[in-house]
Amino acid sequence: MFSCVENVREADKNVAEVKDAVIKSQKYIGVEPTTPEATEIYEPVPLKVTSNNGVPSDALVLFNGNGFDEWLNAADSTAVRWHSNADGSMTVNDKTGNIQTKRNFGDMQLHIEWKSPSEIKNEGQARANSGVFIQQRYEIQILDNNDNPTYTNGQVGAVYKQSVPLAMASSPTGEWNAYDIIFRAPKFENEELIEPAFVTVLHNGVLIQNHFEIDGTIKYIGWPKYEAHGKAPIVLQDHADNSRVSYRNIWLREL
Ligand code: MG
Repeated sequence: MFSCVENVREADKNVAEVKDAVIKSQKYIGVEPTTPEATEIYEPVPLKVTSNNGVPSDALVLFNGNGFDEWLNAADSTAVRWHSNADGSMTVNDKTGNIQTKRNFGDMQLHIEWKSPSEIKNEGQARANSGVFIQQRYEIQILDNNDNPTYTNGQVGAVYKQSVPLAMASSPTGEWNAYDIIFRAPKFENEELIEPAFVTVLHNGVLIQNHFEIDGTIKYIGWPKYEAHGKAPIVLQDHADNSRVSYRNIWLREL
């Protein structure tokens, strides 16, 4: 039997335990609280983030027209050989190879803008094909799909050969598109996968991939399979068929 004071102490202890549980696990376990205060937490305090012309104050700017300081030629780590343009964009220089960030990334929020050339060449997968390879392995497809059908798990906004986009949200050919990509990296322990990667993608503000569970490294031929890896660069694709895709305003927030 508790005395009244002990009962109060016990109640306080319960409140503290429940708060602790809420903070640590976000699970609602233990004795259910009976006051509003018991489920109010004050830490952690969210970081204050402001917007500077749409770029969050804590973002790492990867490309804004001021050169290729954050990028390398993917094949041999030499200087990027893509074109930079006077309007602050860059364009794939055909058959010069993929480019990739110098830095490695894990969980991220990535903003990237792209456009297909207004002069149309080729059909299907050969029309303005590029792509954003997260961690060098997981491609969000870029393609000019306007009046240009192809296999839907390889169309614009697909997680290539794994997930058909929920909508086709492309701008008209020759106009800018935006991808906002939220990515949770896979986790490995002793070379074994313990948690797969997940990706959410908005295309021009339209949700096209909703927390999709990635099945492994993208394969052009064969099944996707996971290979253990750590943080890795973002790669932009030169599909080597005169894609002439342009990019601008690339920024990233590490999560
Ligand atoms: Mg591609």
